[in-house]
Amino acid sequence: MDFAFTDEQLAIQETTRRFAQERLAPYYMEREKEASLDMVAVKEMAELGLLGVNAPVEHGGMGADCITAGIVMEEIAKADINYAFMQLMTSSIGVLLSKLAPPEITNEFVPKLLQGETLLCMGLTEPGGGSDAANLQTKATKDGDYYLLKGEKTSISLAAQSEKGIVFARTSEGGARGITGFFIDMNQEGVTTTRFDDVGCTPIGRGSIFMDNVRVHKSQMLGTVEGKGFYQIMNAFDLSRTLIGLQALAPAISSVEETWQYAAERQAFGKPIATNQGVSFPLAEAETLMEAARNLCYKTLWLRDNDLPHTAEAAMCKWWPPKISFDIIHQCIVINGHYAYSKELPHQQRLRDVMGYHIGDGTHQIQKMVIAREKGGMVTLGR
Ligand SMILES: Cc1cc2nc3c(=O)[nH]c(=O)nc-3n(C[C@H](O)[C@H](O)[C@H](O)COP(=O)(O)OP(=O)(O)OC[C@H]3O[C@@H](n4cnc5c(N)ncnc54)[C@H](O)[C@@H]3O)c2cc1C
Repeated sequence: MDFAFTDEQLAIQETTRRFAQERLAPYYMEREKEASLDMVAVKEMAELGLLGVNAPVEHGGMGADCITAGIVMEEIAKADINYAFMQLMTSSIGVLLSKLAPPEITNEFVPKLLQGETLLCMGLTEPGGGSDAANLQTKATKDGDYYLLKGEKTSISLAAQSEKGIVFARTSEGGARGITGFFIDMNQEGVTTTRFDDVGCTPIGRGSIFMDNVRVHKSQMLGTVEGKGFYQIMNAFDLSRTLIGLQALAPAISSVEETWQYAAERQAFGKPIATNQGVSFPLAEAETLMEAARNLCYKTLWLRDNDLPHTAEAAMCKWWPPKISFDIIHQCIVINGHYAYSKELPHQQRLRDVMGYHIGDGTHQIQKMVIAREKGGMVTLGR
């Protein structure tokens, strides 16, 4: 077993860390108030190759492996989890698009996306529910060489800011087998969006997408045949869920690092609070959990890079690291005392941001259903 990153990965990690700490970390709290990404910073990320790290070079990516995408994810998210979303979006659905869209789209839109010049959203969830995604109701009705999309998507990250979207719609009955993905223009006739007032991740934001007979050419379908959309997005989820593990863990790593320092300086009863095991042991436990969670995520990325099955592991990465991250940040807030119960310190913002990743891309329960199905068989789903 070799746990070491390669020299190239270490160099990318160092470049990413320097950029993230200098260019993103100082503005994390300010950006929450402005509820928008600084697109100049996104462009700078792109110039350093930090968008679509694992996307093919011919489409403007770095052509790196998924482990490298994870390294970038982690370093960016330690500074600002929202900019890491840009890497998440470009590495998962950006790559999905680059694999499945026709050349007009892969040659024009994907490079633009990876250059940080535009935004893309992905619409699967509907008002009727997100967990049972195979039951979605948005309809795509054939009309000559076109499809007419009708329905509503909700809780969609970047819905209101994106230039383009990938939306999943029903081309036939039959559950998961009747779902097809389409690439749409978010400004075209028939598309309207709203924006939610969220408790966290405000620079990304979520919203609804209303589609009223949106006309899309058949060439905008993902893949060459109808009915593959559900499986395409589930495959992309195996990567995004793993990357989310590292993304959601990173704010806890930052909070613990800052809290060690605070505990060494803050005095109570005439000595640094760090001398109390009641303070140092929760941080020691946090270090242990974070180490285990990081290893789980990197092992899962290694499985993907080696074309080995990793659906159960990806689901583990999606539920456990975000959960322990939330608990650890909460513990850091308690150790930082009253100062941390204020918007002056970033811990509370990290807590709210991480909470979103308990739900987006599938809740804890859904991940545990996936693990149970993979390990215990279909009987665990009552089938
Ligand atoms: C920050 C954020 C970003 C998001 N971004 C996107 C996006 O970009 N694109 C997109 O399409 N969606 C996005 N979502 C939506 C997200 O994927 C859904 O919210 C999620 O899949 C859950 O769906 P739901 O909220 O409709 O909950 P429901 O499906 O209504 O479920 C409600 C609760 O019941 C539980 N539950 C349901 N069925 C079972 C079961 N069989 N066993 C046990 N428990 C069950 C669920 O775990 C959940 O706790 C985002 C959500 C958030 C919070």
